[in-house]
Amino acid sequence: MSASHPALPLPPAVPPGQDATRCLVHLDCVLDGVQVWSADGRLLYANPATYALFELPTDAQVDNCAQLFGHCLDDTGRPVSSAALSICDLARGAQQMEHNQRVLRIPLADGGERWLRVRAYLQPPGPGGEPAGVVSTCFDVSRFVHQEQVLQEQAQYDALTHLPNRVLFADRLQLALATAQRRGEVLAVCMLDLDGFKPINDTLGHQAGDRLLQEIAFRLGNALRADDTAARLGGDEFGLLIGGLHGSVECEQVLNRLLQDLARPVQIKGQSVAVTASVGVSLYPGDIRDPDLLLRHADQAMYQAKEAGKGCFHIFDPAAAGKLRASRQLLKKIQDALDAGQFLLHYQPKVDCRRGRVVGVEALVRWRHPVLGLRTPGEFLPLIEQDDAIINLGEWVVGEALAQMGRWRQAGLDLPVSVNIAARQFLRGNFSARLGEMLAGHPPEVVGRLGIEIVETAVLEDINAVSRLIHHYHKEGVRFDLDDFGTGYSSLTHLKRLAADTLKIDQSFVRDMLDDPGDLTIVQGVIHLARAFHLEVIAEGVEDIEHILTLLDLGCDVMQGYAIARPMPAERLVEWLEGFQPDPRWRAADNFPNRHDFELLLARVIHRFWQQQVLAAYHRLDGAAWPELDPGHCRLAAWFEESGRRHCSDIPPFHRFHEAHREVHRRAQILHQLAREGVGNADQPLAEFNAACVELQHILSQCDAATRPA
Ligand code: C2E
Ligand code: MG
Ligand code: MG
Repeated sequence: MSASHPALPLPPAVPPGQDATRCLVHLDCVLDGVQVWSADGRLLYANPATYALFELPTDAQVDNCAQLFGHCLDDTGRPVSSAALSICDLARGAQQMEHNQRVLRIPLADGGERWLRVRAYLQPPGPGGEPAGVVSTCFDVSRFVHQEQVLQEQAQYDALTHLPNRVLFADRLQLALATAQRRGEVLAVCMLDLDGFKPINDTLGHQAGDRLLQEIAFRLGNALRADDTAARLGGDEFGLLIGGLHGSVECEQVLNRLLQDLARPVQIKGQSVAVTASVGVSLYPGDIRDPDLLLRHADQAMYQAKEAGKGCFHIFDPAAAGKLRASRQLLKKIQDALDAGQFLLHYQPKVDCRRGRVVGVEALVRWRHPVLGLRTPGEFLPLIEQDDAIINLGEWVVGEALAQMGRWRQAGLDLPVSVNIAARQFLRGNFSARLGEMLAGHPPEVVGRLGIEIVETAVLEDINAVSRLIHHYHKEGVRFDLDDFGTGYSSLTHLKRLAADTLKIDQSFVRDMLDDPGDLTIVQGVIHLARAFHLEVIAEGVEDIEHILTLLDLGCDVMQGYAIARPMPAERLVEWLEGFQPDPRWRAADNFPNRHDFELLLARVIHRFWQQQVLAAYHRLDGAAWPELDPGHCRLAAWFEESGRRHCSDIPPFHRFHEAHREVHRRAQILHQLAREGVGNADQPLAEFNAACVELQHILSQCDAATRPA
């Protein structure tokens, strides 16, 4: 024992016949700490190495475990709990469990730390059976621990950026998922890939590339919270785990900040270098709790971010991905169905109602599904229109329509047939050539009866190519219709350049033209436009006689719709044609429209639209939905001021218009008042309102009749 060391009492359990002092003196020069404890946990002896290892002054008064180990941490960095401090327990536990050692950390004065392995041994009881004391040793294992840390660091961290590598990222992902689930929070799993990193590496050299990666890693680390993880997964690819979120909006905010931060230039070799990053994100919960799939989804989303123009993030959408999967399966089924001959064409007549003649048919594809029965294009075309399957199907349609025309021709039926061509097929660079090949095997009389319907919106995508195509095939007699016209934004210049043959008024306008003054005006506008450009005009989707008569009045003669005939198989069409009789009511409308007609029709539709709005607002008791109730400011009043007065005031029944108009407004105001009082089903006032409306419509009809030739 060193002279400077305070004398400690000797342990009682010195074997008889031995000089205990001499035994202990030998321990003075041992570099490992050795302590002798009484059975009740008092420190009887500690060698000088003990004091050195624990950084205790040599004259420190240490009596028990708490004083010796009190400022130690366990191997996870937490203070050692008092229960764990008992060296006697450790020794006794060791007997039962053969586990008598612990690793402790001592924070050192210089800011470092020392790792000690403490072992405890229970001494045999004294000769008189006195309780056994304990001997413990403390061994400095700092070197081994640090070596292990280095090894672990190498196995789990990226050497260049010191961020976790792929292995540790996978561990952290598991942990983060468990935490998110436990706390009911959202976890964002992100894949981040630098945009334009390779050119920097190539032009400035690898060192510059490394420096950039280090800076990016540093910024990532700064941008995230301590609990989050940024990892380098390889090359210029990083993984991020952002936890503790409450929804996607919060995640978007974090990522927006992060992307801005990453895009700031970095100074490398005196040059300012900037890169952006594309990030793909999958969110748990929302997406499934499978780490591999979450990573894969984040990866897919990252490619979508790249496709969307880079420098942005994209959040994986499980529903959209499900749809994509379904559409891939459908694509396969459609190809199989084509091979198995499950597609067929139905034909819908186009009729010139003024002259009572069928002028052609439109071929519409159908899928005879072996299980689900006959399916219409709305059920499968939208799912394949972005894929080449639509082209295969489209080519089959053209081929089948031409073949059918040939068969009809042989049977003495000379019928123009138009086919629909999808935008994708139409805008393909080789469509013109493909069409040429498809037409090649057919006689000119058949080719000359073919029509092609292209939706207006597709035409607008490449107006030059479409014009060339139209010019080219016009020479062979092929006709071109602009389908669903009115839904795109064709300008007058387009119409002039296109040289199409027909405008097909979109059925949505036709359907609502009798109820919505806006749609009526569009229908009339398209008819005028067609006339101005010497084009033909067809109205599609005529569902009842009112549509037909109104369209005839407006100057549109050719129509297609359920009011005339539904699409039908080729065989049925022949029968239908044989039995076709024009409806006698069509004949009634053989005068061309004049200005009065249209103005009166417009007034009727404006009024009907207003009446529907009043009724809807009344039934819903919705204070906000009421149309204008002031007879001086409603749309019909505006109509009267703009054109009604000028065009109609010389028609006698029109003199009653004013009073009838005021009356419907009076009745509507009563309904409005009732609605405000919460009375939602007042039959009498409702009936009076409707009667007033009927009277106003009646006056307008009388005016209409008065202007027509007898
Ligand atoms: P579309 O070319 O505008 O054809 C008119 C659609 O309206 C057809 O629906 C037709 O059955 C339906 N229709 C006709 N009259 C009426 C009516 O009075 N009321 C109502 N509510 N609908 C009526 P379908 O056959 O379901 O076709 C829908 C769309 O699918 C077509 O619109 C066309 O864009 C597309 N399509 C149909 N066949 C083909 C095809 O062979 N190839 C391509 N690419 N597209 C096709
Ligand atoms: Mg069509
Ligand atoms: Mg259409």
